[in-house]
Amino acid sequence: MADNILLQVEGLKVAYGGIQAVKGVDFDVREGELVSLIGANGAGKTTTLKAITGLQPLAVGDVKFLGKSIKGQGAWNLAKQGLVMVPEGRGTFTRMTITENLLMGAFIRKDSEIQADIEKVFGLFPRLKERRSQLAGTMSGGEQQMLAMGRALMARPKLLLLDEPSMGLSPIMVDKIFEVVNDIHRQGVTVLLVEQNASRALELANRGYVMESGVVTMQGDGKTLLNDPKVRAAYLGE
Ligand code: ATP
Repeated sequence: MADNILLQVEGLKVAYGGIQAVKGVDFDVREGELVSLIGANGAGKTTTLKAITGLQPLAVGDVKFLGKSIKGQGAWNLAKQGLVMVPEGRGTFTRMTITENLLMGAFIRKDSEIQADIEKVFGLFPRLKERRSQLAGTMSGGEQQMLAMGRALMARPKLLLLDEPSMGLSPIMVDKIFEVVNDIHRQGVTVLLVEQNASRALELANRGYVMESGVVTMQGDGKTLLNDPKVRAAYLGE
């Protein structure tokens, strides 16, 4: 199972007009893994995620999900197949309650286990359960991040893409979010985690990739990267 490749990114290049944001990136994510993609501001991490989910056209290269190119498939179709992203900035439905937001996450499903899955999400995030009838727009940044993750889980992802889930949160909330990312992974969800918080992301990761100026400059298992002097100097302030 561990060698079953869910996501394969091959020679990916993405440009915004004349600006080459991603300049030829290769990596993969295998079933059951938590893979972290780290790098500084502007390294091209978000652009890479957008290309993976079909939100940004690929200029060159390919992305394969479950062995099939994502080209021309569209974000909706990919989500139906289990490729689900929690975008940077969360994107919750602010005028809907927490429960309604969670139900929106299940809109592609037709099975009878939706209510049971809401309870599972409430198990991961007791805070959401306490506030289930509250409008999402009135929640704190950390709570909205929890909601965005919960909503993505309601789609029963095969691969969950998380774009900077800890961004802008208080230290306590950052702890909580990484704890839940770990729980989600332990419950069997494959995760691609994009983070500027390199130490936390690599601590959790089976494998990691470092992106700099649109290319992958280092890769390895999480602990090895975490202990690498170059990574420590560039991303952990040592
Ligand atoms: P951050 O952590 O700040 O989100 P990142 O590693 O995710 O950084 P990207 O957001 O992918 O980086 O940005 C990569 C490069 O592409 C940057 O130079 C950025 O200015 C540029 N870029 C991103 N989005 C656009 C856009 N819509 N139009 C033009 N340039 C863009």
